[in-house]
Amino acid sequence: MKIQLSPYVHLFQRDVRCYLYNAANNFFCEIDTDTYAHLKDNDLRALDRNDVAFLKQKGVLLSPEAAANILLDQKLKYQVHSYQQDVLGLVLVPTTGCNFACPYCFEERKPNVSMSDRVARQLIGFIKGHPNAKSINLTWYGGEPLLAFGRIQQLLEAFKTELSIPIAKHHMVTNGYLLTPEVADFMGKHGLKSVQITLDGTEEQHNRTRCLKGNSAGTFEHILSNIDVLLKHQPQIKVSIRVNVNKSNADDFFPLYSMLSKRWSDKSIYIYPGFIREDTPDGKNLCSRCITVDDGPEFFSMLRNRGANLNHRTKLVDKGCMANQINSYIVGPKGEIYKCWNDVSNPKRIVGYIHRKQLSNSNLLYKYMTETSPFDDPTCRQCGVMPLCSGGCAWYRMRNRFENGRFNVCSIYKNKQFLEDALLYNMANRSKKHTMPLIDV
Ligand code: SF4
Ligand code: SF4
Repeated sequence: MKIQLSPYVHLFQRDVRCYLYNAANNFFCEIDTDTYAHLKDNDLRALDRNDVAFLKQKGVLLSPEAAANILLDQKLKYQVHSYQQDVLGLVLVPTTGCNFACPYCFEERKPNVSMSDRVARQLIGFIKGHPNAKSINLTWYGGEPLLAFGRIQQLLEAFKTELSIPIAKHHMVTNGYLLTPEVADFMGKHGLKSVQITLDGTEEQHNRTRCLKGNSAGTFEHILSNIDVLLKHQPQIKVSIRVNVNKSNADDFFPLYSMLSKRWSDKSIYIYPGFIREDTPDGKNLCSRCITVDDGPEFFSMLRNRGANLNHRTKLVDKGCMANQINSYIVGPKGEIYKCWNDVSNPKRIVGYIHRKQLSNSNLLYKYMTETSPFDDPTCRQCGVMPLCSGGCAWYRMRNRFENGRFNVCSIYKNKQFLEDALLYNMANRSKKHTMPLIDV
């Protein structure tokens, strides 16, 4: 029977050792030099019979039919996720108001709107209007969602009494300033599973930029104390700390990471760099201050050399994001619906309203759902790490396609050296506790 090498297999050597990685199923192993040479030379007839059986089992060697279908197989999985209706994805924005006055923040220029009782009632009706949904994945987002903690309380109580489906995943993105013991206890009681809090760097740097409105006093230590409270009161809630970095403060990440890791050495907490994305003046690319996907490998290798225990575990990504999932909605405080977090408060990006049957911007919804697919992109179709990426961010993909953008949407694993380093690092550190989350760049 004819066999061929999968297009997702990556072969490489380090020192005198040879390795094989299959991105289609995330299989990685060391191989002997003969097998390596035969695979590299595509001399498959020279392979040992037992090796052929093993390599077929691991999807490294494929029948011509399986090889011809490998992309279609992925496309099918991607589309199934896009149109599945058993999970309702909801990002709720109870308010667009914020208690911080960060100088770079676009929230400053947005209207400060909070969800009314009427919209809250409509929201319950909207959820009930999805009879195929068996569970909800819920995220609180803002503005600063905890400025509307009363609304969050009321909605969570209403979900409990009025809905027949459970909240399967429950997450919150907050600046952490209002995370009091009362908030922690209530959210813990209502099954909050994780919280993401952003810092702007070291204490000095953070206090320069993340100040309260009308008060220049720093917020760093207050936020850290709140995290202490949360970890003490509700240790089951996972905390991730996103540290905003660009080229001007990249060197600050490691000292902060070390300090926070020591402070919470016995806690389930994740500290990771979030690359700030700012456009060039023409809006076509990221500006030179940004750490881009091309700069990422150098940044992470610097951290690894300094001893930061990064977790760059390769993982399969067989679906897009909310933007191209039909049953996922970002609901603003007026009941307006968006498909991407980046669109919140932009009236041109409202695709509909929770109380109306008709869409208000069907063209945008159709574009997100159908025109951002990596399976229509010739580069992605040929890409050896497609199973680890699935095409990147749909928001930037749209801007590339329809606004002449030049944004690099690729996965960091497209960089072969980075992929190899990550695979080897994780192989060598398999048993070690990782203190960083999977990092999506
Ligand atoms: S389009 Fe990009 S930014 Fe928007 S939800 Fe998807 S991944 Fe996130
Ligand atoms: S976006 Fe880049 S890394 Fe991702 S599948 Fe397409 S070409 Fe590959």
